[in-house]
Amino acid sequence: MEALAEKDLAHLLHPATNLAMHRKTGPLVIERGEGIYVWDTHGKRYIEGLAGLWCVAIGYGEEALVEAATTQMRKLAYGQLFASRSHEPGILLAEKLESWVPPSKRHTGPWKFLFGNSGSDANDTQVKLVRYYNNVTGRPNKKKIISRLNGYHGVTLASASLTGLPPFHAHFDLPIPGVMHTGCPHAFRHAHPGESDEAFATRLADELEALIQKEGPDTIAAMIAEPIMGAGGLIVPPEGYFPKIQAVLDRHDILLIDDEVICGFGRLGTRMGSEAMDMRPDTVSIAKALSSAYLPISAVAVPDWMHEAMLEPSNQVGAFAHGFTYSGHPVAAAVALRNLELFEERDLVGHAARVGVPFQARLQGLMGKPFVGNVRGKGLLGGLELVADPGAGKRFDPSAKAAIRLAALAQEEGLIVRALAGDTIAICPPLVITEAQVHELFDALERAIARFA
Ligand code: PLP
Repeated sequence: MEALAEKDLAHLLHPATNLAMHRKTGPLVIERGEGIYVWDTHGKRYIEGLAGLWCVAIGYGEEALVEAATTQMRKLAYGQLFASRSHEPGILLAEKLESWVPPSKRHTGPWKFLFGNSGSDANDTQVKLVRYYNNVTGRPNKKKIISRLNGYHGVTLASASLTGLPPFHAHFDLPIPGVMHTGCPHAFRHAHPGESDEAFATRLADELEALIQKEGPDTIAAMIAEPIMGAGGLIVPPEGYFPKIQAVLDRHDILLIDDEVICGFGRLGTRMGSEAMDMRPDTVSIAKALSSAYLPISAVAVPDWMHEAMLEPSNQVGAFAHGFTYSGHPVAAAVALRNLELFEERDLVGHAARVGVPFQARLQGLMGKPFVGNVRGKGLLGGLELVADPGAGKRFDPSAKAAIRLAALAQEEGLIVRALAGDTIAICPPLVITEAQVHELFDALERAIARFA
């Protein structure tokens, strides 16, 4: 085994990894990247079909971002936003984000952006914000948060609790109290035979209503949802789902937290995924493509009315006591700002919408291939669900590790994709992918599927 791989096995504890399997297979060590491609230490080239971890939206090797980082590092390598300190990149990024995050339902003024470093900490911040907000508005019992089975919201104690996937709870003594999960809007798995989208969405909204009634509407503060579920199985909700869910939430004065960590910044062919999925959220979490992952940065968009409610209380009890050393780190903020400027200069959202058309057509074209049970997606996001018997919709036994095997074959064919829960393969390439490269990606995937059969 090569020296780097040996050192990996000796010294690294890999996140989100089957540790026993890793000891057997060793790592795939990636050395460099350019556009939609990365190369391993043997010089083999791959299409990065997951944009890293759904994040390198602008593609690899973007010199303008390197330039933005080094310029800012030379000027002011670190600056803080605690205790009224501020700096130019943080201020200008917050200003820029106003035009990227559509107004919330009850909006009258600009968003306020509270920066962090990851999607997980953004969602932790969301939990703390709704607690704070309800405490200071005299509703101390209104604290619980509803998430969804198969939702993915991160791995810190609160975010992992919101995540609706068993391995994120088992052996970690999670979820924390006050988090509960409602049904997953995955029609292929959970719609009744012959049930229309409309009827399935209505049933999910009724299920949500029943959960709220059981728990007590006055005890529930918010619901969190991704516009399209990513890591939990690439699940596209049925038509009309969010308006029906929101009608239930509105009836009980329950906020909707929009987790845009994957869907934000053009992924679905719109600025935010909420626009593509008919969602009108109250607060928003953003990360990943915000900086195209050149540096870690996240943010929570806080509506003006929530901010207003927090002003006086923070005067009474002391500081609004939340934030990180690296909240709005100036180098990360400068990179994110430049990244969004490039998105605008290159119309990357429009590009994603346009290239999303052949992307979705090729995805649909996989139906009918061996073991392909269902395909789904929007824009430049796609999922392919494998089944043992497509005719009967019969699932693979989990021990078959079907998606993991297909992802391994794709890797041999020079394509990196991700195996998800529920035997699903996720495809989420950098937004800069061209139409010709979309065909290259799906050609590689089809070769892998042919070998899987
Ligand atoms: N929310 C969503 C929708 C995500 O997909 C992820 C990560 O994939 C997170 C939150 C957590 O982000 P991070 O891994 O940066 O903590």
